[in-house]
Amino acid sequence: MPITTSPGFDQHEAVAFHNDPQSGLRVFVAVHRRRNGRGCGGIRYRVYANEQEAIDDALRLSAAMTRKAVLAGIPSGGAKSCVMADPRGKTTELLEAMGRVVQSYGGTYVCAPDVGIGTEDLAVIRGVTPHVTAVDHPAAPYTARGTLRGIEAMAEWKLGRESLDGLRVAIQGAGSVGAQLAHLLAARGAAVVIADVDDGKAKSVASELGATTVDPAEIFDVEADILAPCALGGVLTRTTVERLKVRAVVGAANNQLADPAVGEVLASRGIAFAPDFVVSAGGLIAGEHEITGFDEDAVHEHIDRIGVTLLEVLERAASESVTETQAAERIVAERLSTETGS
Ligand code: NAD
Repeated sequence: MPITTSPGFDQHEAVAFHNDPQSGLRVFVAVHRRRNGRGCGGIRYRVYANEQEAIDDALRLSAAMTRKAVLAGIPSGGAKSCVMADPRGKTTELLEAMGRVVQSYGGTYVCAPDVGIGTEDLAVIRGVTPHVTAVDHPAAPYTARGTLRGIEAMAEWKLGRESLDGLRVAIQGAGSVGAQLAHLLAARGAAVVIADVDDGKAKSVASELGATTVDPAEIFDVEADILAPCALGGVLTRTTVERLKVRAVVGAANNQLADPAVGEVLASRGIAFAPDFVVSAGGLIAGEHEITGFDEDAVHEHIDRIGVTLLEVLERAASESVTETQAAERIVAERLSTETGS
């Protein structure tokens, strides 16, 4: 079972498999970096085709968490857990076993929600370990705020717009983040088109806002200014990017590029891309403030800097003729090397 040769391996500090036959918990925990003694990252809980798929997911996601933290000015590293199980069979016993796994790291791994793990689940986990964030302040509204700041920065940089009034945004996914983002955009006068595989969710958001829905299979064909992927990762492939009729992509979904080369395809089509690890940091920022002392105004002020960071990335990509992801990674590498002195 390759770890060091997985495409997601990025000199990870540790990768572990934890097994609790009694509850059925089977989970890979990847700790990419510990900065100031800790790595932070969500618990993903989903069915994987096989163990390799779960390892690859944990590796890619934990490395992205380090980048996210560094760019958001958060003094922690990145980690991630991938539980291999069907969320419909989730039990308190299994969540408590997960809590014991987190506790075994003694605070060097701090967990948070991700796909398949909600606030109620985290509350159970917190009954076993204190090393949990986003229970008292659910992450999605903060993530949506940060994504909005990314959209504002992109609208200014790519479209020369100072306001979102009349901007057309196609949102993929009407879940926790996508629905909140739709509300924030509509409040600023943007026209929202939204799609979800759960048609009821998309329709409910659309009826609240007077927005439009499309079939999920058609979201990449929508004529709009910006596409905001807020569903799952890997949605930007060569095929889907060829279909796009937007000027930019800015969304919260983790790891949107199916592979790094898709960034080049976007660039060749003149479509600007906001790396997800830049714009989806709002929940992580709120979680960090939970650890150090939560103050809503300070959290908002911190999240609002995401727009400034995205502009730095976009300008760097343009001036060095690299993709936005490469530019963001260069900034991360520079900041990390300043810390380590290497
Ligand atoms: P969620 O599970 O609440 O919502 C995701 C939605 O996407 C669901 O409604 C689902 O039905 C829909 N969906 C799935 N596949 C789809 C498809 N092919 N087309 C259209 N809709 C589809 O998740 P969320 O918390 O809103 O997170 C959304 C994304 O943002 C995820 O990739 C997550 O990893 C990322 N993210 C979330 C946060 C957070 O604070 N929740 C933070 C950072 C990143």
